[in-house]
Amino acid sequence: GFASRYFTKKSLKEEYEFDSRTPYYDELMFGYETREEAIKKLPQIDRKFLIVKESIGSGNFGEVFFGEYGGHTVAVKTLAKAAANIRTYQDSFITEALCMSTFKHDNIITLIGVSFDVKPAYLVLEFMDGSDLRLFLMEARPTATNPCPFDMTVADFLKLTIDIANGCSVLEKFGYVHRDIAARNVLLTSRGPDRVAKIADFGLARGLNEANYYRVSNCRRTCFAIRWVAPEALLDGIFTTKTDIWAFGVLIWEIFCFGLTPYSSMGLDDVVTFVASGGRLEQTLSIPSNIYFLMMHCWNTSQDKRPNFSTILKILSDFMTDEDILKFPIHENFIKGCCTLSY
Ligand code: ADP
Repeated sequence: GFASRYFTKKSLKEEYEFDSRTPYYDELMFGYETREEAIKKLPQIDRKFLIVKESIGSGNFGEVFFGEYGGHTVAVKTLAKAAANIRTYQDSFITEALCMSTFKHDNIITLIGVSFDVKPAYLVLEFMDGSDLRLFLMEARPTATNPCPFDMTVADFLKLTIDIANGCSVLEKFGYVHRDIAARNVLLTSRGPDRVAKIADFGLARGLNEANYYRVSNCRRTCFAIRWVAPEALLDGIFTTKTDIWAFGVLIWEIFCFGLTPYSSMGLDDVVTFVASGGRLEQTLSIPSNIYFLMMHCWNTSQDKRPNFSTILKILSDFMTDEDILKFPIHENFIKGCCTLSY
């Protein structure tokens, strides 16, 4: 099925335009510290008190394990031996730790600590029991036999977008770009009605310079998830908060389309041409018009015309009291309009 296809290594490669020749980026600074100074200050894990249990998933650089640390359930992200020898991977792994330790917020995954001195290197994270958002959305898809899995309401879907926008607005405030905002990079605390969404996967995140942008030194050589990246960033490698806004628009689309793949009928090259010439993701029947309007706003060709995360939060909280949106028959409409699409 789709789920198993998506989670194989092969499809991950297809998702990202990977190139192992990516140059080492040494221009990274964290606040006023150098990278080396910041790494030394990361909270350290004492492996004596860490129990690593079964594998729960595999990431780009290594496996993720279920574990226990000082009586708490944790997730242990490892840097595989093969990946540890590739500088880009090692850098992303460390960058992820540095970024996560910078933000302490309910909608951003908490870093409990790191252990880099013994191999394999570990990142110890708060454990998220609800899987990633994309998988959850696919399982929340209505079918003839199960018309409303998890009893999801429009308010529940909106709450997910608000959680993520809250996390993003912290990055915006601190002058960071995530660069990989997508449903697969959001994790849920649980699957039940009290689920909280948190932003994960900070391997591509960067601090912005004084001019509020981050420039990729050789954009043809860097890995991007093409379907989520704003056209100007693909063209010149310049990332700003407004490129995260674009990706956030695609993420709202994923949420209201129950985890469908954006532009699924197109190959990556076609997506680039389509978006650059003004093409946009379609309004499926399951997307209320006001919400589609917000997405289109995030996909304005001109970055300046895209909203920022604080404006998005205001709009989304207004939606939370809008009866027309709350009563929108998202499940029925999905069945009517999207279930025949093979993606
Ligand atoms: P990568 O950044 O290399 O893609 P991820 O962070 O996406 O790796 O982790 C891969 C998988 O491991 C996720 O899809 C998820 O299933 C699981 N995982 C990662 N972090 C956690 C966590 N904190 N709690 C529970 N599961 C996690």
